[in-house]
Amino acid sequence: MNYDYIIVGAGSAGCVVGARLSQDPACQVALLEAGGEDSAAALHQPNQWPLLLDGAVDWGYTTALQTGYNLRNIQYQRGKVLGGTSSINAMIYIRGDARDYDHWRDLGNPGWGWQDVLPYFLKSEDQQHGASAFHGAGGPLTVSDLMAPHHISSAFVDAAVAAGHARTVDFNAGTPAGAGLYQVTMRNGERCSTAKAFLQPARKRSNLHTITHARVLRVVMEGDRATGVDYFDGMQVVRIHATREVILSAGAIDSPKLLMLSGIGDPAQLESHGVTVRVALSGVGANLCDHPGSSLVLPLKEAGQALPASNLVEAGLYMKSANMNDGFAADLQFFVTPFAPAQAGAVGKSKMMAISVQTCRPKSRGQVSLRSANPIDAPLIDPRYMTHPYDLALQIEGLRAARDITAQEPLKSLIAAELAPGAHALDDASLEHHIRATSGCIWHPVGTCRMGNGEDAVVDAQLRVRGVRSLRVVDASVMPQITSGNTNAPTIMIAEKAADMILS
Ligand SMILES: Cc1cc2nc3c(=O)[nH]c(=O)nc-3n(C[C@H](O)[C@H](O)[C@H](O)COP(=O)(O)OP(=O)(O)OC[C@H]3O[C@@H](n4cnc5c(N)ncnc54)[C@H](O)[C@@H]3O)c2cc1C
Repeated sequence: MNYDYIIVGAGSAGCVVGARLSQDPACQVALLEAGGEDSAAALHQPNQWPLLLDGAVDWGYTTALQTGYNLRNIQYQRGKVLGGTSSINAMIYIRGDARDYDHWRDLGNPGWGWQDVLPYFLKSEDQQHGASAFHGAGGPLTVSDLMAPHHISSAFVDAAVAAGHARTVDFNAGTPAGAGLYQVTMRNGERCSTAKAFLQPARKRSNLHTITHARVLRVVMEGDRATGVDYFDGMQVVRIHATREVILSAGAIDSPKLLMLSGIGDPAQLESHGVTVRVALSGVGANLCDHPGSSLVLPLKEAGQALPASNLVEAGLYMKSANMNDGFAADLQFFVTPFAPAQAGAVGKSKMMAISVQTCRPKSRGQVSLRSANPIDAPLIDPRYMTHPYDLALQIEGLRAARDITAQEPLKSLIAAELAPGAHALDDASLEHHIRATSGCIWHPVGTCRMGNGEDAVVDAQLRVRGVRSLRVVDASVMPQITSGNTNAPTIMIAEKAADMILS
């Protein structure tokens, strides 16, 4: 079977690329997804997302033992369904800091500065408050306020202001700072994944061929040119051909894995698994960066109850640490869960809240590598959390700042105690112990097919794989540096921009 374009992965990025490329009726586009249709009700009800983790729509990955986390493995959830991780995420809409993108540009990626990428954020967006200098209206992706935020979320914002932080109504104007309620990718109280926003309307087109339960095994290469892919449909291996391009949108874990399985990567690693080296690119799978997260866990005097339309992580804060001097707006981001910590699976029924702290631009770097040459084997994922002292120092400072906020009204009188790290944990060593013993991830892996022009760059500024013709990577893996916040909106922006580049 021949198509003009084959897109691998119908996730945050892949659904956008599929929808945009198929706007040209002359283009035959195949969109392959390892998971199935997004028909389960829990995928659409916002407060259900913790129940989706580790289930049928999750790849079920686990990290390598993390030395920085007291030799613990971390569950590393990724969506395996139409919409990909945008179908299981917490729906917070955050672009990061304008300087993130100016930094990408300055690293040798022309066309990726804030002024260059802002039009693509706006192009996607259907902002509840209408169009403005920083927001778009009429785009496919609904960005809205929470319908009925919990009073604990509002109390956090007021307490943060009482602790001296600014109040913000918009985290997404390029300078995220202060405390506020997050905006979310929801439409009429339901999740607005990229499957819903972009793919669903585009599937009416006869030139867009969405194939579910199609697990891509490798890119087919003829010399230095990508000519198609092999996928497993549950019964047999099917080969399809791309007359123009193959586009990998399998995410920051699976896109580098697929490149490696196709002979594109670090020669020593490929040879150690018996994979024939086609193109030596040492950066494939390297430079893995993710936001680490540690939390204050706080029993409440009264139980919270999450409404169906709550994303459970309703409020937040961006703040500067004491020694921050890199010109950005903030280096710490907070997430407030006014219910049980999401991982507990209780989905907003317990008498507990959590304030999680995330380092905006962590310095620890990890790796995705092959476990074997068998495409069905999970890759080795080693984020190496908390292996850089900067990350630890910032987490400690963030936990202290969170604690200061809990000492302010109106939040103070709602909290019964501090369960973890606990009131006794005052010095750096006690907080370090808490961080290393309990922290997890905030699920934002990026950088494993880094865009740039240095030795470790995998794609150029047009997202073309270096040394290979007709092959691009379009997903979170191309970010040269992690953005200062959640990664769904930046990934959608990357896909919008990539589609424009491909069509022109
Ligand atoms: C629990 C959780 C909560 C999160 N919360 C937020 C949030 O609130 N806000 C935010 O901005 N970000 C959040 N994120 C992160 C954000 O959702 C991701 O950064 C983003 O979805 C990544 O998009 P992607 O296109 O790179 O990858 P994905 O969306 O993961 O897409 C990759 C797709 O490729 C498919 N695929 C992979 N391998 C193959 C293969 N071999 N063959 C065929 N298909 C394949 C996958 O099944 C998937 O559909 C969260 C993530 C998680 C896990």
